[in-house]
Amino acid sequence: MPGKSTGGAEAEIRQVRNIGIVAHIDAGKTTTTERILYYSGTSHRLGSVDDGTTITDFDPDEAKRGITIYSAAITCQWRDTTINIIDTPGHVDFTAEVERSLRVLDGAVMVFSSVEGVEAQSETVWRQADRYAVPRVCFINKLDRIGASFERTFDEVVDRLGGEPLALQIPLGEGPLTESGEGFRAVIDLVERRVLRFDKKQDGSEITVEDIPEDRVEEAERWRRRLLEAIVLLDDDVLETYVETDDVPVADIHRLVRAGTLSAAFQPTVCGSALDCIGVQPLIDAVSEYLPSPLDRPAVVGLPAEAVKLSGKKARRQARKQALDGDESTEVTGIERPCDPAAAFCGLVFKVQADTHGDLCFLRIYSGTLSGGSRVVNARTGDKELINQIWRVQADDREKIETDKAIAGDIVGVIGPKVAVTGDTLCDAGEPVLLEPIEFPETVISMAVEPETSAERKKLAETLARLARQDPTFTARVSEETGQTIISGMGELHLEVIRDRMQRDFGLSVRVHKPRVSYRESVRASAEAVGEFQRTQAGVSQFARVRLSIEPVSDDAPADLESRLDPLALTPALSEALHQGLQDELAGGGSLGYPLMNLKVVLQEVESRDEETTEVALQAAASDAMHRLLTEAGVVLLEPVMALEVVTPDEFLGPIQADLNARHAVIVSSERRGDLAVLNAEAPLAAMFGYSTQARSLSQGRATYSMQPLKYAEAPRDVLESMLG
Ligand code: GDP
Ligand code: MG
Repeated sequence: MPGKSTGGAEAEIRQVRNIGIVAHIDAGKTTTTERILYYSGTSHRLGSVDDGTTITDFDPDEAKRGITIYSAAITCQWRDTTINIIDTPGHVDFTAEVERSLRVLDGAVMVFSSVEGVEAQSETVWRQADRYAVPRVCFINKLDRIGASFERTFDEVVDRLGGEPLALQIPLGEGPLTESGEGFRAVIDLVERRVLRFDKKQDGSEITVEDIPEDRVEEAERWRRRLLEAIVLLDDDVLETYVETDDVPVADIHRLVRAGTLSAAFQPTVCGSALDCIGVQPLIDAVSEYLPSPLDRPAVVGLPAEAVKLSGKKARRQARKQALDGDESTEVTGIERPCDPAAAFCGLVFKVQADTHGDLCFLRIYSGTLSGGSRVVNARTGDKELINQIWRVQADDREKIETDKAIAGDIVGVIGPKVAVTGDTLCDAGEPVLLEPIEFPETVISMAVEPETSAERKKLAETLARLARQDPTFTARVSEETGQTIISGMGELHLEVIRDRMQRDFGLSVRVHKPRVSYRESVRASAEAVGEFQRTQAGVSQFARVRLSIEPVSDDAPADLESRLDPLALTPALSEALHQGLQDELAGGGSLGYPLMNLKVVLQEVESRDEETTEVALQAAASDAMHRLLTEAGVVLLEPVMALEVVTPDEFLGPIQADLNARHAVIVSSERRGDLAVLNAEAPLAAMFGYSTQARSLSQGRATYSMQPLKYAEAPRDVLESMLG
């Protein structure tokens, strides 16, 4: 708020929760989010996924498929806490979206279905959350359904995720309500030893507090003891009280649950039925009481923008690591930016979303204060960017609230930046800093697209550029050989969504060709080669000789370039030209024209002659050396391999399995989940085209599956041979 002292601002930041709600598809993330918005007064009606009336799934693609694809940040107010909900997708084709959200949030709500239990996507996300050390609370949902089990799901969080769930509640009854009053009807609050009952007829807004029924007291006490025993370990004084009195004061319970959540000792776990409006308010309470504020998180560390501007991805990663480890041999020191409105401004763009007013950049502010109408710098490109407007997004388009400033810890949408893409840092021009960019996986599938009429060619290019800016896992380029426009992405569904958006959002109809696998190239062996350029023309001689070596590495990363050149061997201008030439050679792909990966090229030596060694000569020699090198080292063709999870009723397991075998899929594991069989497999993407149709027809529509890029592996010999011709 304007005019507040720093002390006031600190109190304000303490009340901010930047959270993501993450779940396997269909576990109830959207429904839970909708309920949170409803109870916090952000939304005035109870949206329903099933009628397509939700706020968070406002992208028509999502409404149509019933899944959430595009994340957006929504702000809501709960008592005196401001909660920014960063929406995360539930479909594994879009894991990069989850990953980017995790980068900018401070805590997460993990929603589990108590029927299906812990599913594949939850595992993936849980591991990602571990990696970013994100504190979590768990919500065990769908307790009203047949086959629901709180305890089984709770145990799976332990067994499958290696989690430390801490039950703060247990359900009163499980499964659908029966006429005799059995089934899931309320939650037992273990902390305060009481029952919370929600009346669905009043949208669950009224909560009635009751005593725990006689026949459940013993069980509740057992769970409560588990809770106390976990938290008293965190505080000697409380432990003493516990030993003496056999109890812990409620205020201490809350304090220690918070402490243990922040230190990732455990994950407080509550339960309910989002659909039936049971247990959502206590979940929001848990978010505001136990999840971290931006001040509880480590200060963000960046690099001086200049030090990293021109170097490659790996060099940046390394420089950052050294800076963070305090390695004295480097000149680059990490810059710590405190979560303080008075510090220099820096923030990370984590999402660019199309909007009627232009592109809306979602920004996590790590330090300083951002004012509407100000100018900031894009640390990646050095461009000045204008902050035209700052918005707090309350729901969809119609409910944005403009604000004149936003402070450290905030998540806001800004309009104005022209250059910024997802992962860019915006900062004060006077004190530039580059935060670690968000990295996205390589694309695995491509498809040629053509406009219906040639008049629309220009529009196609513009549309694709805009789409690529919004979705960094999507790329578009024009093929040099065929002149065709090629779009690439993370899977068939991904490209299908892009195609729909071209049509719907931009009114552009395109003809599409069959999707194709995006191959990569690497080399079979290490090699060394010398390239030379020597020419005399009109009495002017040019000369350069460049020695390179190459070696295969298995790091699943794009080709890397390293220089062992004596810094005095060339003038800075020549050296820069040579490096640029080599970068261009690497970017140009391998012998077959596919992008190079899993290899390292080392610039060993340069032979130059005064006067005769020019930029052109060096680049030509580098190009010559590179061609020799690739021929010498031998080509390896790599193809994307997908991780696949298929969930099917038993009766279709046979045909599903037979079909996977026919596709050369390797079944990694198979297990039971309730009445369903779950197969985990790895399969080359090349064999998985049209799988959605096939899976449907083999199972009368009952099998579901998810698929995501896993790795690149050597393609079958005959594919390579057919390419070599
Ligand atoms: P998401 O894919 O995780 O966003 O899940 P949704 O919120 O879209 O929910 C998937 C389906 O489960 C929808 O049909 C919901 O109505 C339903 N659902 C969500 N929560 C509950 C619940 O607590 N109980 C029951 N019975 N159904 C639920
Ligand atoms: Mg959803």
